Amino acid sequence: MLQIAPVDRELQLAEYEQVPGLLTTLAELRHEAQHAVKRLRQRRVIVISEASGVGCDAEMLPSLVALLRACGIDAQWWQHRPDDARAVELNRRLRRLVLGDAALAHTLDDEDAALFQAQAQAAARELAPQIARDDVLLVHGIGTAAIGALLKRERRTLALWRCTLGLDERKPQTRAAWRFLKDHLTPYDRGLFNCAEYIPQYFTNRASLVPPGVDPLSDKNRTLSLHQVVGTLCSAGLVEPAASIPARPFSGTAQRVDREGRLRDPGELELLHRPLVLQISRWDRLKGMVPLIEGFALLKRRLAAGELRDLSEPEQHRIEIARLVLASTDPAALGDDREAVAAFDEVVATCAALDPELARDVCILALPAGSARENALIVNALQRAASVIIQNSLREGFGLTVAEAGFKGVPVIGSATSGIKLQLRHEIDGLLCDDPANPDAVADSLLALFCDPEACQRYAASAQRRVLAEFLITSQLQRLLRLLSELA
Ligand code: UDP
Repeated sequence: MLQIAPVDRELQLAEYEQVPGLLTTLAELRHEAQHAVKRLRQRRVIVISEASGVGCDAEMLPSLVALLRACGIDAQWWQHRPDDARAVELNRRLRRLVLGDAALAHTLDDEDAALFQAQAQAAARELAPQIARDDVLLVHGIGTAAIGALLKRERRTLALWRCTLGLDERKPQTRAAWRFLKDHLTPYDRGLFNCAEYIPQYFTNRASLVPPGVDPLSDKNRTLSLHQVVGTLCSAGLVEPAASIPARPFSGTAQRVDREGRLRDPGELELLHRPLVLQISRWDRLKGMVPLIEGFALLKRRLAAGELRDLSEPEQHRIEIARLVLASTDPAALGDDREAVAAFDEVVATCAALDPELARDVCILALPAGSARENALIVNALQRAASVIIQNSLREGFGLTVAEAGFKGVPVIGSATSGIKLQLRHEIDGLLCDDPANPDAVADSLLALFCDPEACQRYAASAQRRVLAEFLITSQLQRLLRLLSELA
């Protein structure tokens, strides 16, 4: 099924002048935009992506399309959702294979190939009447790769394919996925990847680097005052409002997942009064939530066992009162995504196995998804309230949450996986945990940051500078405009 994606925001480039240090970039951006508009001579840019509610592409595309329009380019965005559950599952499997998920068998058979092709043919047939020969196709994601290829063949348009996933080494899983996709990717004029290591061999000489980036003005990232952070957490039901200052409730409030996996009113979590370690991610085993919970629990156990006696009293106290918050989407919305349901169940079982005292300090939150704006504001407020943001992924194509944390000046621990290594330099912009599947290593990383507030400040400042220089949506747009000028 195809549908035009709604782009609610109308943006002006001038709005970005309020972002510190962006004036020069904006001047260059305006120049690039003028050049691209001239070269495109009113040709439209048609963005085609998978219809997914959450994730890196879902986060970036609304801003990217709105910004292309702000540059004077006629951009249209189509989303595709396969109408066959087997195709949805195949797309998920392909994404995990490209990330090199070792838990998956790396065989893709003729039936998979036929399904992939049939879905694409149906979608291309539906979309073809909307596409003119001089349109430019910007196709995002693995599940839509074949649709763009078919449209390119039929309409002879200029076609670019973008993939924000990848792994910096070749494994049987990655080879199988890239081999499977080869015929569908061959027709594209250019492939857009996060970094050189992700480029499959057959894209050599027709690949460009366009890493993801955060939109500093979106609800997810825009500056919130202290009052707005507190007010948002109150509206989300995560902080008790003071009696004299009633909070206007959001259309849906956050819920805490209990030891049986049921959703409960979170009660007072004391998020504003305790050091808060935060991870925001989809329900996905590759996000490393289980070893993160175990690592956090291990750190607390080490403290209780007297193993951290060398630390100062305030340091020990910080660890004692720290809380881990894992926030994700409402599991009720997972539907037939078996992998996600299994990841959720694993997290619940891990929490259920903790001593009750420890379990109190691990908060699994289900964020309301009814309003994208409210959901984004809750994530924004939680990130700004955090003492440390962690992204303990076992595999990560980029990890937009890392850039989101860096942008907000919150110290970050990331796992040393390809997408995060692209953003964080160990002991410069944050800490990289070498072995995210190992709770011992996670506990060591947490301990190192907890006990070094000066390093935290240094890392946070450096990460923020790096995001402003390299990982903003404006840098991404600039690269894209340059490409359009070159290829149009
Ligand atoms: N996100 C969110 N709510 C959630 C989980 C994730 O808003 O419950 C957002 C998160 O803030 C980030 C994006 O989804 O902007 C996740 O992108 P990332 O690159 O970290 O991971 P992906 O989901 O694409 O693997």
